[in-house]
Amino acid sequence: MTDLKPCPFCGHDAMIGAEDLDTYDMYWVIRCGYCGAMMYDDSEDKSWIVERWNKRTVVLDGISVKTGMSKEELKEDLMEALKEGEK
Ligand SMILES: [Zn+2]
Repeated sequence: MTDLKPCPFCGHDAMIGAEDLDTYDMYWVIRCGYCGAMMYDDSEDKSWIVERWNKRTVVLDGISVKTGMSKEELKEDLMEALKEGEK
């Protein structure tokens, strides 16, 4: 059983699975079923991606690559979202 922390953006449960994102390779994909945040890695061992997901910082890396936003901008958004969640 993999110990995945909840989504860093919305706090809902995340799921991990193997998917063939580009038809050539299988990737480990962690997805939030609620807000659609995702992270993927092509390592054979899924502990790497799980560790990164749980640390959250590399989730920001992955998303900043995808969206073109800087990590600082994302971090601000995330902090805002966390503050909203505490209300
Ligand atoms: Zn989420």
